[in-house]
Amino acid sequence: MPLYTSQPLKIYNSLSGEKENFNPIHEGNVGMYVCGPTVYSNVHLGNVRTFMSFDVIFRYFLHLDYKVRYVRNITDVGHIVDDVDEGEDKIAKKARLEQLEPMEVVQRYTVDFHDILKSFNFLPPSIEPTATGHIIEQIEIIKKIMDTGIGYEANGSVYFDVVKYNETNNYGVLSGRNIEDMLANTRDLDGQSDKRNPQDFALWKKAEPQHIMRWPSPWSDGFPGWHLECTAMSTKYLGNHFDIHGGGMDLKFPHHECEIAQNEACTGQSPVNYWMHANMLTLNGKKMAKSTGNNILPGEILSGDNTILSKAFSASVTRFFMLQAHYRSILDFSDDAIVAAEKGYKRLMEAVDALPTIQASNTSSIDIASWKQLSYDAMNDDFNTPILIAQLFEAVRYINLLKEGKETLTSEDLKTFAAAINAFVFDVLGLSDEKATDSNNDKLEGVVNMLIGMRNQARADKNFALSDQIRDQLIALGIQLKDGKEGTSFSI
Ligand SMILES: [Zn+2]
Repeated sequence: MPLYTSQPLKIYNSLSGEKENFNPIHEGNVGMYVCGPTVYSNVHLGNVRTFMSFDVIFRYFLHLDYKVRYVRNITDVGHIVDDVDEGEDKIAKKARLEQLEPMEVVQRYTVDFHDILKSFNFLPPSIEPTATGHIIEQIEIIKKIMDTGIGYEANGSVYFDVVKYNETNNYGVLSGRNIEDMLANTRDLDGQSDKRNPQDFALWKKAEPQHIMRWPSPWSDGFPGWHLECTAMSTKYLGNHFDIHGGGMDLKFPHHECEIAQNEACTGQSPVNYWMHANMLTLNGKKMAKSTGNNILPGEILSGDNTILSKAFSASVTRFFMLQAHYRSILDFSDDAIVAAEKGYKRLMEAVDALPTIQASNTSSIDIASWKQLSYDAMNDDFNTPILIAQLFEAVRYINLLKEGKETLTSEDLKTFAAAINAFVFDVLGLSDEKATDSNNDKLEGVVNMLIGMRNQARADKNFALSDQIRDQLIALGIQLKDGKEGTSFSI
């Protein structure tokens, strides 16, 4: 029996504002779309937290034996500076400033994004589509929206008429905003815009002559709107109606609101059953912003190269720090907080490492089954990682008592206990045992030093064929030997 049948899950749905039982559209399958990065600058720590929230959600679905199709896109065109429709494309602007091809900008920051996520032990999504790879699909959706009369062309651009849409639908259903209030709070159009209403948003923008990112369309040579690309890529890979759509809290409005409007205009149905929004990361109590210097890059945590840090912290410690907060809560990063997280992480890993040394008894004095179910209950309650971590520290307490012989477990219970701890720590939370990696490094160093000793002996014996062979084969493995006055050292 798949695990999900015995572990019913509740998800907080931003659309209803309530925790709801999770019932997938197709039994045993989950379709999940998460808005990916706009690849025009280095990924910041707040992005890492957002994507980590969905990484753990993805991992937990997999752990529950669901078959998951997780689609996370790359925005490589269409995201306008300041998220408004009049202005410059973020990638085109960066390309102009750095005198690069837009696709060089895209490539550079896509690689950076993947490197950073990999260093924090993220699982790759099932599909990672790009906006520029789906221009044809976006044009087709625009045609459909225009057929309904909700999309209109003006001077080569196409806009979505939110007022007309709102006559038959509810623009604001996700964010709780009301169109009359929105219109009342907006300045009148300045006469420069082609829009009918200030709240209308672009589906297609005509490119200015100097704009390099451009594609032909029935309306003009131009580029698609940002909201449209997610509608195109989510429905292409997950269908017109799918289980979960996620993203950062800041994307709820207008981005996700516009996605719902586009889908409903196009297909007549609401696209998503569960909308999930991950909360932000602050730094020393304030919003992170490059402009104020209240900012930290993920790589700086790993190197310690930032004045707000007392030292470097590992990727697993950072991950552990982030998962101590629920994904819907604001999390504040500070040196004190991550120092405390490091202590907790080490305590947890010491206990995990001690598990295999515990001897089984004839009887069990701890109720492992209920400890395990409480751990599942935490995750089943809208992926509550802080409660799961509290359960893991309860396990640490048990392990220490077991080590001292003050509690006992049968071999059966011990097996269940160890399997559950390993599953929660490594598979679900995605932590790594860095001490194990360190000890592997120690072993590697020992092996290379042994080979250096054998090579020295071969040279002393004038067996140069063997000494060269050892050196060359190490080079082939990427290990460089360096002979110096102090003896031979190596680098990897
Ligand atoms: Zn999106």
